[in-house]
Amino acid sequence: MLNETPLIKFIALITFDRDYASMSAHIVALQKEITLLHAQENELDATITVSDSGIRSMKKEIDADELLIASLDQQIKEKKERLAAAMNPREHRAIMSEIDSINTQQLAAEERLLNSWTALETRKRGHDKLLLANQEQKQRIATAIAEKQQQMADEITTQATTAARRASYEQGVPEQWLEKYAAMRSRVPNPVVPIEQDSCSACFHGLSHQELVQLRRRALLECKSCYRFLYCPIAHQL
Ligand SMILES: [Zn+2]
Repeated sequence: MLNETPLIKFIALITFDRDYASMSAHIVALQKEITLLHAQENELDATITVSDSGIRSMKKEIDADELLIASLDQQIKEKKERLAAAMNPREHRAIMSEIDSINTQQLAAEERLLNSWTALETRKRGHDKLLLANQEQKQRIATAIAEKQQQMADEITTQATTAARRASYEQGVPEQWLEKYAAMRSRVPNPVVPIEQDSCSACFHGLSHQELVQLRRRALLECKSCYRFLYCPIAHQL
């Protein structure tokens, strides 16, 4: 607009920059959310890996007991052959007692095996439930990731188009202000602030009567305490 004062144009530029910065912040936030969702995916995969390895070690125990039982069977068979060839009652008794002891071991192994099988069945059912639940959760996460990625892509496109418009906001703003603003921007997020209750609204430094008069005459002053640009919103009907 033609009747816009340099200060109003300047404030429009600052507002533009603030909006641009909030877009950047939003993109960063989306990126963080996506990273977090990927981490959740990994956690779900990790629970499956843990469950899988639990099942594998249970199977290993079962295999070991099955091997043990087979080997005890073989031992009993051998003892029985020796029993048939026993020379005297003493040898006979000794072999019998060895067979008894092997039988006891075998019974214990068989009982353990039975319990292991039951435990494995329970564990497998649990694993299947976990797989199903994880699948659902992963589906939800994948959808959320896709949505956020789309949002991010849109925001990046918007930001790129917006960036091209910045030069037009600089038009009509005194060069001196632009230079000072560029220097202040790198230090503070709000380099230009309105006055509030006759003070700088950023650092609350009080203003002199003379400064207030200047500000009401639409001057742009620098705060003597924080060096931000100050303006009087009422004077500019803002
Ligand atoms: Zn100040």
